[in-house]
This record gives sequence, structure tokens and C-alpha cells, in this order.
Amino acid sequence: MLDRKDYYDEAEAVVSWIDRYFSSLENMPVKSQVKPGDILEKLPKAMPEEGENISLIMSDLDRIILPGITHWQHPRFHAYFPANSSVESLLAEQITSAIGAQCMIWETSPAAAELEQRMMEWLRDAMGFPPGWEGVIQDTASTATLAAILTAREKATGFTSNEKGVPPGLRIYCSEETHSSIDKAVAIAGIGRQNLVKIAVNEDLSMSPHALKKVITKDLEDGLKPFCVVATIGTTGTLAVDPVEEIGSICEEFDLWLHVDAAYAGTALLLPEYRWMLPSTKHIDSFVFNPHKWMFTNFDCSVYFVKDRESLIRTFEILPEYLRTGSRGKVNDYRDWGIPLGRRFRSLKLWFVLRSYGLQGIQQKLRKHIKLNEYFRSQLLDIGHFILSYPSRLNFTSFQLKPDNVRLEEVELNDLNKRFLDLANVSGMCYITHTVVKQHFILRMVIGQTYVEKEHVDLVLKLFREIAGILVRETQT
Ligand SMILES: *Cc1c(COP(=O)(O)O)cnc(C)c1O
Repeated sequence: MLDRKDYYDEAEAVVSWIDRYFSSLENMPVKSQVKPGDILEKLPKAMPEEGENISLIMSDLDRIILPGITHWQHPRFHAYFPANSSVESLLAEQITSAIGAQCMIWETSPAAAELEQRMMEWLRDAMGFPPGWEGVIQDTASTATLAAILTAREKATGFTSNEKGVPPGLRIYCSEETHSSIDKAVAIAGIGRQNLVKIAVNEDLSMSPHALKKVITKDLEDGLKPFCVVATIGTTGTLAVDPVEEIGSICEEFDLWLHVDAAYAGTALLLPEYRWMLPSTKHIDSFVFNPHKWMFTNFDCSVYFVKDRESLIRTFEILPEYLRTGSRGKVNDYRDWGIPLGRRFRSLKLWFVLRSYGLQGIQQKLRKHIKLNEYFRSQLLDIGHFILSYPSRLNFTSFQLKPDNVRLEEVELNDLNKRFLDLANVSGMCYITHTVVKQHFILRMVIGQTYVEKEHVDLVLKLFREIAGILVRETQT
């Protein structure tokens, strides 16, 4: 057990560990190569009777834990979507831990509440949202989407579902390409997953407004109660963008809540040249995006905007005696803006990132990633034997290895691409993931690491060229 006064000496060792970690990252395999149970086996079955030294714990960190870490901050991490961080965010997070405030209501740390309010206003304005919108930080997009669906449910049932339970027949709509967090939220909200209707998509995998309208009309004829649509800007599989404006008109016509899930691609609304993804905010009721994905703010930090805060608060407000304060009504008590009572001081890291980067600094980084993706795409196609699966957008490319001059059945082609994925990831040189669309096994490459440079992309391209060479030769013999 340490004395409080030992902090500085121990912290120096940790800070230098972190610094070494960053500088040695590139030499470590991106994806952990351990087998299930490997780490568990090295951990004692019971907690120690007597306290141990931090230095001993640190050496076990290197010996036991690090081999089981997949390095999300590695510049050649191209899997899923990034959860990128930055030195600035990390500095702030250390201070947040030190302060250790529980920011459930204004009175439990006024600065946390008011900084959060201001950060939400900064982002709202920088992204071009209407001045009336208000925001709140949630832990994840999954939680924000659950909050949206619960609020939509309350509004549609005259704010009675919280009291009386959810009436049957409520219907909610999203596309076939929507993130699984919508399925989860619909289940938790008591709507019933059978009432989540997956709308057909267009050729580019965006939701078809025509199909949406048809399904809603049919549901109304059948006596069901449509209440909400979830549109996506940047689907997880292929970064498809739903036509939010047309979907919004339909929501207006049928009086439905429109929630926009822009968890990943939302950050790009900070770039004027990407505002086309959201031509109008007129009919949107709620919107979520994750600074913890592509805005250099370490996990967790998800920003949830609402047009009308009253419905949100009415859905979540509960006021036991011990939380009654004299400041109620004059300030934001964010516990009423979401599910958990307890809240971390997350706005501090946003403040550090937004101030130290500035809007221009963030825009420069985003554009750099977009440029690197253009470079990757053109170099990949130059290798030969690769095709693009869907339009490459922002910092994202979906592709398949498809050997020229060899006819392969669909199953064989999928197997070949699965092998490509395995070889790439087992090499330790990079980490990429896949998606399946219409039975095609498709490879995904996302270039969104905070400190990624062209030289990193070149190494990945070299690897892809080698693996493609081996696999293509095999198909030809
Ligand atoms: C990542 C992602 C989510 C889930 O985000 P969490 O913050 O992990 O809950 C939801 N929707 C989309 C489109 C995503 O890309």
C-alpha cells in the first residue's frame, strides 16, 4: 500500500512507461496473438494476502498483460472503426482521474456541468446544427440511441409508458445495414424486436425512402403505431449514408421521431465539404456521434444532441429527496439527460482536445486521413487483382481480392478473402476486419489513427502486395 506522498515517484515511472509504450508501439504486433485462456492461466487464482509493490505489478503488466493487448492506438490499426486518442486527451484523462468527481448533478461539480454545456455548444455550432439544439455527453452511442428510443417511446405514448408499461403495436424502422445497437435498444426499451422493421436498401446500401414509406403505410393500415425512424450517416459495414432529408419528410408526414446515428462519420460534419451528408436538420429530433472514434478523444465520449430537451428530461427525471437542490431548474443536472445517475467528468478531455487542436487542427487531421485513404485506394488498385466493393468514402475503403484471369465461384472467392484477412492479421503488421454484404466477404480498411503517416500505409500496402502475390499464384496452379 502506498502513502499518498509516494504518488509523484510512482507516477514518474508510469509516465515513462507510457512514453516508452508509444515509441515502441510500431514494433509490436497490432492484434494480440494469444489464445483463449492464455492470460487467465498466468493470473493467480486468489487475490494476494499482503500488498505488493507497484514495481512488481508494473513488471507483470509487461509480462502478462501486454501480450494480450490489441493495440488500438497503433498507427497500423485499420480494423472496425478506430477508437483514437491523443496526447492531449490522455493528459486531461489523468486529471479527471485525479479529481475523481462524480458529476451527476450541477452541485456535485458545477464546473463539470457548465463545461459540458459549453463544449456541447462549441460542437453544435462547429457542426452546423441549429442554435436551439442542446447536447449531453453519454458513454457510448449505444446508450445515446437507447435514450433516443426511450424518449421517442414516451412522447408517442403521451409520457405514460414509464408509468404503465409499453402498449403493444409500437413500430420502429431502420435499414438492413443499421448497427446492432438499435436492435439492442429496441429490445431493452420493451418495444419488442419484432417491431423493429428493417427497411430495404438501395444499390449503395443506403435506406430506400420509397420502401420506408410503403412499410409505414401498410403498418398504419394494419392498425399498428409507427413512432420512430433511425437513420444512419456512415453505416458500420460500408459507410453508407441514408438520405436523411427524404426520410425526415416522411417522419414529418407521419409524425415520427427521427434519430440519426452518425457514431463514426458524424465527426466529418466538421468539414464543410462533407455537410452534404446532412443537407437539412429540419426534421431531426436526436443525433449521436462519437468523439471517441474519430475525434482524438479517448474512449469513452459520445455526444448526444436533441432538438427538444424537455422530452428527454421528462423521460429520465426522477427526484428522490436526497437529490433535491436549491439550484434545480436554473442549471443542467445531467443525470436527468440519460440512464445512469453517476457520471464521469468527460467534458474535460473534450476541452483539452478542442482547445489544443482548434477547429482547424481537427479539420487538418481529418483531411489528412481522407487523403491517405485516397492514396491507399489508388495504390491498392495499382497492385492489380483487387476490386473496390463499395464507393470508398471519407477515410474508408471496402475491397476484395479478385484474381484477374481466373474464374472463381462465389464460395471460393469468399474463402480466398478470408485467408487474405487471416494472413494479414497473423502477420502482426496490421489489423483489418471484414463485413459480409449479400453473401460477399468484403475486407474493410479504415485509416483514422491519430498519428498515422504515409509510411505506415506504405508498409500495409507492401504486405497486401505480398499476400496477394502468394494467394493469386495458388489459384493459378
Ligand atoms: C460504433 C457504432 C455504434 C456503436 O457505438 P458505441 O459507442 O460503441 O456504442 C453505433 N452505430 C454506428 C454506426 C457505429 O459505427
